[in-house]
Amino acid sequence: MENIFVFLFNSIIVSTIICAAAGLSNSVSLKIQRYFCFYCDHNLAWFDIIPVISACVLRNKCRYCHAHFGHYYAIFELSYILIGTLLWATPVTWITGVLLLFLSLEDCSKQSIHANILFPWIGYLLILHHDAHIYV
Ligand SMILES: [Zn+2]
Repeated sequence: MENIFVFLFNSIIVSTIICAAAGLSNSVSLKIQRYFCFYCDHNLAWFDIIPVISACVLRNKCRYCHAHFGHYYAIFELSYILIGTLLWATPVTWITGVLLLFLSLEDCSKQSIHANILFPWIGYLLILHHDAHIYV
């Protein structure tokens, strides 16, 4: 039961990160409440954004304008959902993976990243491990 929860939680997080990275790549504010098609600007229904399933059902096309998104989203979603589920046992690694996933998606589409989102996390890791002893 816990594995199903972890899988579903990771699917929501990964889908949100992919949408956020795609939005930033297309100069769309993250403050917009609804997801929409980047080609026809039509608001997407809840059943259009179910991770992996919607991409398979819609055959990687927009339901409204039939613009082809490519297999990119479904493959990335499924891959990172599985990776996130495997990393779930170590929260520090999982959070680092989520941050790096976002930056890698941003880098793929824009060739630039918002590296400053890593600074608070790196600071936390330094505080967390500042008294760690190194045994040689
Ligand atoms: Zn569309």
